[in-house]
Amino acid sequence: MPLTLGVIADDYTGASDLANTLSKEGVRTVQTIGVPDDGLHLPDTDAVVVSLKSRSIPADEAVALVLAAHQWLKARGASHILFKVCSTFDSTDAGNIGPVTDALRRATGAGIVPVTPAFPETGRTVYMGHLFVGTVPLNESPLKDHPLNPMTDSDLKRVLARQSVGKVGLVPLKDVARGAAAVSARLAQLEQEGCIAAIVDGVFDPDLEAVGTAAAALPLSTGASGLGLGLARALVGEGRVLRQAGDGATIAAGIGGSAAVVAGSCSAATLEQIAVAEAAMPVLRLSAERLVTHPVEEVGAALGWARARLQDGPVLIAASDTPDKVAEVQARFGRTAAGLAVEHGTAAISEGLVAAGVRRLVLAGGETSGASVDRLKIPAFLVGPEIAPGVPLLRTEGQAGEPMVLALKSGNFGGPDFFAKALKMMGH
Ligand code: ADP
Repeated sequence: MPLTLGVIADDYTGASDLANTLSKEGVRTVQTIGVPDDGLHLPDTDAVVVSLKSRSIPADEAVALVLAAHQWLKARGASHILFKVCSTFDSTDAGNIGPVTDALRRATGAGIVPVTPAFPETGRTVYMGHLFVGTVPLNESPLKDHPLNPMTDSDLKRVLARQSVGKVGLVPLKDVARGAAAVSARLAQLEQEGCIAAIVDGVFDPDLEAVGTAAAALPLSTGASGLGLGLARALVGEGRVLRQAGDGATIAAGIGGSAAVVAGSCSAATLEQIAVAEAAMPVLRLSAERLVTHPVEEVGAALGWARARLQDGPVLIAASDTPDKVAEVQARFGRTAAGLAVEHGTAAISEGLVAAGVRRLVLAGGETSGASVDRLKIPAFLVGPEIAPGVPLLRTEGQAGEPMVLALKSGNFGGPDFFAKALKMMGH
């Protein structure tokens, strides 16, 4: 069956967030890591979210990657392409949102492209083309000091125009409030006037549905998870996608093997989750110092410890430590070197655990899970129901060998019993 929605996301965590949003709306969604191989075999789905790391690379490299992703999605029949960007519109005058949107506009044959990072539920609203983060305009929010993309102008019409080759218009709130037909009419008028893109206002939740419905009738849109939500509701509402109930049993069906948790997040939430898990499963605390100075020995010892216990139930291996201990290690070896050594160590442990028969794996930490997923060479995930807000159950797809179920939890997500809850949903 051809795809209904193809998404190209400019970073991994944004991609997961969007994939989770689509799945919660009943859209069967697969998330790929990077541009997939032509031969990648995927189950029947309505949406594929291609995760790239293109937000802060040079614009010409971002365009090349995005066009390769578009080729792949087009070959699978995607009838609408969403270019997923950050809800704070992270970009510079050199790109990448403008150049990538324009390249996709040409590739999809789109006329005008609706663009909006609005997501009222998460405090991102757009009025008269100005983006607000909570109660303040973008240029007064912490984003003004972002190390890579400082955002010093809240007027997204100007921001996008500076990065674009043509005119950028506005679909004002008064049109959005009148519904999808008024948005479509305004977009058509702006296209007549020579605009290649238009910032679309959005202040209230129902605005997303009006924008989503208007966008779904066009080949291309650019926006954040709020636009993804609007598109999902429009596609389900129009019957272009059949609402599927997210079902944990289906995702984890037929997956045997052992279970493990690997943690590298040092957030307060993760430290508490590890402490709670100690009552329920064997926990091994890694030495960050040893992971820097004697990585092979430390990883080997951890895997030996795990192999002796895996047949009796889940195990947890954590590099995570309290802020004072982390600061000590960072002072000795440098922040980046310490972080990378620990990420390499936890990724090698994830790989060793899978080699030892683990098929249900919970990874705690954004960077930690990214490093492990890359090391495990997982090409794609089928996105399942949520374990906790923002953390879906995932099943690997397109990999040689047996499938696995995973949870990738970033730092502060999940309640104190997150690990037990995740393992239970994985069928353990
Ligand atoms: P979060 O999602 O909480 O930000 P991440 O995995 O993204 O978690 O980041 C945690 C970082 O801290 C990783 O780079 C990890 O390797 C590093 N780290 C984990 N444990 C330690 C430790 N004991 N000492 C120093 N760095 C650590």
